[in-house]
Amino acid sequence: MNKLVLATGNQKKVKELAAMLADLAIEVVPQSEFAVSEVAETGTTFVENAIIKARHAARATGLPAVADDSGLEVDLLQGRPGVYSARFAGEDASDRDNIDKLLGELNGAPSDLRTARFWCVLVYMRHADDPTPVICQASWEGLITSDLRGQNGFGYDPVFFVPSEECTSAELPAERKNQLSHRAQALAKLKLALAAD
Ligand code: IMP
Repeated sequence: MNKLVLATGNQKKVKELAAMLADLAIEVVPQSEFAVSEVAETGTTFVENAIIKARHAARATGLPAVADDSGLEVDLLQGRPGVYSARFAGEDASDRDNIDKLLGELNGAPSDLRTARFWCVLVYMRHADDPTPVICQASWEGLITSDLRGQNGFGYDPVFFVPSEECTSAELPAERKNQLSHRAQALAKLKLALAAD
């Protein structure tokens, strides 16, 4: 394989994933370059949604595809927003809308109970009908803050406190986030799987 399509429309994710894949001898092309249509994320798990997106991109482009599905799991909210992270505050919600809803639901909760983690599932499909997709997943532990801090990243980064770094993931330089994050860890597994495939 010398070329694969990255099945995400999220430019921030494209940037993060392309940066992390830069050292592979594989040309990574975002699906925007092929005008791949959006596909409904109808799954109830990250794995299902990632397979839906990878299959759709592979079918539309004829190339092997990698898709990412990710989200935030908050313990006090019994795992919500989970697969609904991007649309927690509604279908067209902005990152800020989602953060406001999250902080509202956690209002008054003590800091030590505000445990949460990001999950990332990466799926690699060799072609649209691949019966054995490669599935790699990883999580990143943190605590939900009570206010927003930092300007980097996207999504819930301004309220995701990383204990080992003593700051939110939006305060981390991109290079540091790309070493620690759920996406980085899932990608490290995927790179090993791709090398062995
Ligand atoms: P997806 O595009 O369906 O995978 O949506 C994932 C959603 O989870 C994003 O829109 C963000 O709200 C959230 N999310 C996933 N990864 C991150 C991250 O690295 N930082 C902040 N938020 C994230």
